[in-house]
This record gives sequence, C-alpha cells and structure tokens, in this order.
Amino acid sequence: MRFAPSPSGDLHVGNVRTALYDWAYARRTGGTFVLRLEDTDRTRVQQEYIDSAMDTLRWLGLDWNEGPDVGGPYGPYLQSERLEIYADWAGRFLAAGAAYHCYCTQEEVAQRRKAARVAGGPSGYDGHCRALTAVQVAAYEAEGRRPVVRMRMPEGQTTFTDLVRGEVTFGHENVPDFVLARADGSPLYTLAAAVDDVLMKITHIVRGEDLLSSTPRQIAVYRAMGMPDEEFPVFAHLPYVLGTDGQRLSKRNGVVSVNWYRREGFLQETICNYLALLGWSPGEDRESFTLAEMAAEFDLGRVNKNSARFDVRKLEAINGDKIRALESADFTARITPFLQQAGLVAAPPSAEQARLVTAAAALIQERISSLGQAPGMLAFLLVDEGDFVVDPEDAERLLTPESVKILQVAEAALSGLGAWESATIDEALRGALISGLELKPRAAFGPVRIAVTGRRVSPPLFESIELLGRERALARLARALGSPPG
Ligand code: GLU
Ligand code: ZN
Repeated sequence: MRFAPSPSGDLHVGNVRTALYDWAYARRTGGTFVLRLEDTDRTRVQQEYIDSAMDTLRWLGLDWNEGPDVGGPYGPYLQSERLEIYADWAGRFLAAGAAYHCYCTQEEVAQRRKAARVAGGPSGYDGHCRALTAVQVAAYEAEGRRPVVRMRMPEGQTTFTDLVRGEVTFGHENVPDFVLARADGSPLYTLAAAVDDVLMKITHIVRGEDLLSSTPRQIAVYRAMGMPDEEFPVFAHLPYVLGTDGQRLSKRNGVVSVNWYRREGFLQETICNYLALLGWSPGEDRESFTLAEMAAEFDLGRVNKNSARFDVRKLEAINGDKIRALESADFTARITPFLQQAGLVAAPPSAEQARLVTAAAALIQERISSLGQAPGMLAFLLVDEGDFVVDPEDAERLLTPESVKILQVAEAALSGLGAWESATIDEALRGALISGLELKPRAAFGPVRIAVTGRRVSPPLFESIELLGRERALARLARALGSPPG
C-alpha cells in the first residue's frame, strides 16, 4: 500500500481518510505501508509541507514501513529525488514507440481543441505529432521548439476491477494521448506515480475518486513498462467527502485542514475514528472504535460506494465522548499544552500549577468537547490575580441592585466560613442565598459565578471556589462590589 500525497498545503480531511484506509489495510493484511511524497512540482511543494504531512501522520499514529525518513528497499521516496528514473523510462518508451515527441505549443493544442469542439468532434489532443516525418521534426527543431513526450494510446478500451466500484471501463476515444514529460524533461504525475507504483511493488492503490479517470493512463504506463496485466495493482477509488451542503468538501464549505482540528483540540483518536466512518464501519452499527480495532477489522470490500458527508457536529460529539473516556492523568497531560499555549501555565508547569491543573481537570473533563476549550474554562483559576478580568458583557450583570445584594450576602456567608471545602461552601451559599434571600439557584449563583470565575459558563461553582482558595475568592467578590480587597 502507498500513501502518496502532493504536499502543497496541510493534509486535508480526504487525504487523511485515504492514508487511514491504506494504513489499516496494510496492517490488517500484514502488508507494507509506504509513504511516498509526490513533490515533483517544486513551485507548489515546500519543505515545511513535507515535514507537516509527516508530523500529522505520526500524530495520528499512522506509522509507515518505508518512506523518506526511514528509507526502505525501493527508495528514494521523494519523487524529486527520482527524476532520472522517470526520464529514463520516458526515454525507453520513446525508443520502443510507446511514446512520441510532440512539438505543438500549448496555444496550438488549445486552438485545435476549440475548433474540434465547434465541429462537434472529440476535444482531446488530436494526435498531430504521432507520425511526424524526419523533415517535419527537423523543421520544428530548427524553429527552436522543444518537444514534450506523449504517450501513444492504443485503440480500444481499458477495463479494470475497482474494489469499491466494481468493473470500470474507459473507451480510449476518451483517453487522448497524454503528456508524460514536459519539454524540460520533468515528469507529469501520471508518469511518476505509475512508474513508482511498479518499481515500489505496490499491490493495492487506494485513493480518491478524483483520480479514477487517470487510471487508464496509468495502466498504459504499466503496460509500456512491460508489466503483465495480472500483476497490475488492485484499485480502490474512494467516494468523495461532501460538506453539509452536499458539495465536495473544500475550503468553501468547511475546514479541511487536519492540522486545524488538531490545534482546536480534537484528539487523534477522534480524527481517525470519524474519518474512518466516512466510508467504512466495522458493522453492527458500531460507531466508536480505536485505531487498533480498525487495524484488526478493516476491509476494502466493505467500503461504501456512496459519498459521505463531513459533519463537524458529529466530530465534536465523538470528541466529547473520547475526552470523557480518557484516564484522568491522560486528560490532564493532554490539556496542559493548550494551557501553556494560552500562557496560563509555564513549561514545565510549576508545582502549584501542576496541583491546580490536576484538580481542575476533573471539573472540566465532562464538560468540554475539545481540548482547546480548556484554557477558557480554567483561565479564572490559573491567571495571575492582577490579570483577572470579568468578561465585560457579563460584568454589567453584576451592577443591578439585585446582584449587588447577592454578592454582599455571599461575601458575608463565605468570609465567616470555617473549613474551605466545596461542601461547606455549597452549604453556606445555599443557606444564605436560597433559604435566606428566597432565590432560585440560577438567579442566586449566576452573579457569584461571574464575580469569581469571570464568565457565565464555568466549571462547577463550589468546586471552583474551593480551588480558587479563600483569599482569592473573597477578593474577587469584594472587587465585584467595588470595594478594595482586604
Ligand atoms: N499525489 C496525488 C494526490 O495527492 C495522489 C496520487 C495517488 O494516490 O495516486 O492527489
Ligand atoms: Zn503535437
């Protein structure tokens, strides 16, 4: 199996689903998973994207057996380091007559295509240079033209069996002679990918449906390389991933960068589980599974033929479930980098920060659907006291006479408290506000919550007040009442 991204940006949702299926099938069958980077278009590919693609795959847990960093028997695995190999094959195809030099300029090709379309004929390359005489070639050369290499597609059709779509046939009237190498000798995708699939001994090609129409061209290259039909790789073209609007998922109707989801605090387990579900499930309506379970059960034969819809709300729901299921120490470890990123915790955390984060983690684990929500929930606890601010919109709610009354009563109830524990805090505040002022819990605790946590949504109030400590909690109530602390 090979995963062969063209790294011209972050890996997107569709790429990663492909990688996941490649990986899982290789693992299930005891096969080899190859990472090959299709980086021949160096105007679009940058080293940072190559590094980022490998980093994303590693983070997801999709390890490869052969690739640019680990090497392997069929390397190099960066196509930009294999240019002589492609040039060599293009030369062999020319020598054998399977390919020919084409001297047409792009403008000439476009013009003839337009004319053919007007005349109602086929609109692909018209075979103009298929049989140039030596005199014609010499004339073009004398004009200074430099030829591209084109494949000579034979008459007939190409049929192959796709594991997802069944038998697929392309008539060659729809597969015009295609360019293998540019005038400067650089290979096109169809040449490089097909040559590498053969030389790297790939047996199964899983990739997106957008590449279905390039399959007959790749098969023509396999044949030209002398590969017998029965040794062709097996294909599985995955249906498109759609956005919620039913159009192909793209930047226009959703966020496609997997790194974006990572930065927002989606777990790698969530991404793998959810992307796997876009076209496959282990059966019996099981929707939650681990990578290891997928590696044990994945089968290309069960891949869905219909396109799947990417729904970020479903992704969030799965993420919430997976976050709640984490061991508490694991959860604490996973939110810590987000707290550090937000400047709330040092790297490494101080002993006091570590104590607070561990205690507070338990309060939010049930309440967040992405790790990126942790800083907002815990800022009240981890900020330097001088930096604590109440959300300006919520602060207005503290100014009403009723709120002022509530805060005064709460301050009085808490300042006399003996043991500073959530149970005693609970008892004191309930006694003073609910029994004493005859308020409903929501009305009673809202202003207290805003005053001590700075927001209307926070971890559970009494536990939060306990963790905050007597001094800071009372100081915040005093501050909300406009009186200087102390
Ligand atoms: N490099 C191609 C792409 O990223 C995929 C090639 C393939 O899987 O055949 O679209
Ligand atoms: Zn031509």
